[in-house]
Amino acid sequence: MMIVDHYAVFGHPIKHSKSPRIHKIFAEQTGQTLDYKAQDVPAEQFSAAVAAFFANGGKGLNCTIPLKELAWAYADVKTERAYMAKAVNTLALQTDGLILGDNTDGIGLVTDLTGNHDITLAGSRILILGAGGASRGIIAPLLEQSVHSIVIANRTVDKAINLAGEFTAKGLITGCGFSDLKGRQFDLIINATSTSLSGQLPPLPEALLVKNGICYDLAYSNEPTVFVQWGQENKALKSLDGLGMLVEQAAEAFFIWRGIRPKTRPVIELLNKERKL
Ligand code: NDP
Repeated sequence: MMIVDHYAVFGHPIKHSKSPRIHKIFAEQTGQTLDYKAQDVPAEQFSAAVAAFFANGGKGLNCTIPLKELAWAYADVKTERAYMAKAVNTLALQTDGLILGDNTDGIGLVTDLTGNHDITLAGSRILILGAGGASRGIIAPLLEQSVHSIVIANRTVDKAINLAGEFTAKGLITGCGFSDLKGRQFDLIINATSTSLSGQLPPLPEALLVKNGICYDLAYSNEPTVFVQWGQENKALKSLDGLGMLVEQAAEAFFIWRGIRPKTRPVIELLNKERKL
């Protein structure tokens, strides 16, 4: 009898998740026998749902909004990047029965920027808009790329300052409010706020992006997000959304679970083609 290993993504809401599709393609591409489902799990049901999943033979989980902090607390052991991020998007059952927690968002972003878009991060001045869970996950992997500096700007200024303070041992990083950005310029601006989801934009001053600078919205959509449009209007060399990051973070999770690295480029090309239709 063929044994099928079970995986899933938990989130709330989860209906529009592309993860089941992405992992199905990865499994076909690498000849792995597994299934991967999306399950709507509100925060208050998280612990019970995860326990039931693994008790019923589940091998690995992805966790998305609003469950990443809960997944961090649930994991028996954590990778260093998950520990720093205080958020976990990947849980994996280990051979010793313990649940490993990892955060693949940051490496997913870095791989998309450097591998898929040939963007050099070393020496760059980076602005991150937002100080929530996603922002937390990308800071350490970005600092590890020998960037010049990172500024985090957030609506709730204290959150940006406190978040920056957690990473000062890893590089040059400060936090501020949006109004403090006036007169400053950055090579790469990353939108890690959730404003794109509601078609809004944080208040950004003029001339924030250097000539030939890069804009990257962690959010993605079938149409260019408002921040991607902002980048285009501000003459960014590239103004990208987070679809590539989504596929790359999924590939990293797949590698943790299966020990095989799927090819991401054909999957990104396919999803890009579909959203243009
Ligand atoms: P959180 O809810 O943790 O954080 C939201 C952030 O947005 C906070 O900094 C919040 O500021 C800010 N914000 C919300 N509304 C406004 C507003 N009206 N004006 C200014 N700032 C605002 O969300 P996440 O960090 O988990 O997710 C952020 C984005 O990243 C989402 O769009 C998500 O889809 C995307 N994402 C994409 C991934 C990918 O693979 N492509 C992976 C992970 C996330 P404040 O602190 O003041 O409330």
